[in-house]
Amino acid sequence: LRTHILELRTMQYNEGEFLMIIRDTTQIKQLEDMKRTFFADASHELRTPMTVLKGYLEVSKNPNEIGDMWQRAHKVMSEQLIRMESLVEQLLTLSKLESDNDIDLNDDINLVTMLNQIEIEAMSLAKTKKQNLDFNVDKDIRVKGNEEQFRSVVTNLIFNAIKHNPNGIDVRVNLKKFNEGIMFEVVDTGRGIEQNHIERLTERFYRVDKARSRATGGSGLGLAIVKYSLNHYDTSLKIESKINEGSKFYFIIDAKFVLSQ
Ligand code: ADP
Repeated sequence: LRTHILELRTMQYNEGEFLMIIRDTTQIKQLEDMKRTFFADASHELRTPMTVLKGYLEVSKNPNEIGDMWQRAHKVMSEQLIRMESLVEQLLTLSKLESDNDIDLNDDINLVTMLNQIEIEAMSLAKTKKQNLDFNVDKDIRVKGNEEQFRSVVTNLIFNAIKHNPNGIDVRVNLKKFNEGIMFEVVDTGRGIEQNHIERLTERFYRVDKARSRATGGSGLGLAIVKYSLNHYDTSLKIESKINEGSKFYFIIDAKFVLSQ
């Protein structure tokens, strides 16, 4: 059963005759709500680091008072600035993805090279969490698309598996080529995600655990960016997960986007 919002208007049509107009405004109201929520969330996300920065700047007005704390203050302020920078960056990426249909999809992307580069960075983060990170990449895979966009898709999925899971787990990144196209997947043996959250993960700012995600520097925009980016390849992100067993995030790109040797 769905609730509908109806708008009712009556106007005089002729002498003694009235016209009644009933408009179903459910969708308009839903869009307005989504817009309002988006701006409220975005403002809140920016305000949090700004408050921290303001506090430290206030204290550092008097150098005598801050004394030994300066090093820590400097570290926190730098972290908060990076956080704001990455949030603004992600918001710009999203708005571009949502509005720009003319995005250049003609790059010749060498996925093997791209994943080799990401592996180095991911490996160093995984090491700090004593996680086993394993890349299985088929040879010579090139696709046609937007390089920057593709990089952010695979980076988000790989780093999510490391960031959002406890120490000591396994993370496997697979890139496979087959007749119908290619499949990219990130499989982890981490904490897993409940079904009711899975459906909402690609919503902007949606996080299973806000506090935990914020602590890892997450804004909740990563998977929304993945979702909109994959639209350009006529495909979608698939998520399978079991609590305490782990998750699998994957997508398939059709052969028409795959470049032959
Ligand atoms: P962010 O990483 O900035 O928090 P994302 O949109 O990338 O935002 O992810 C949304 C949420 O999905 C995360 O906050 C986290 O709760 C959950 N998530 C994503 N990937 C995983 C994963 N591999 N394992 C467990 N939870 C995950």
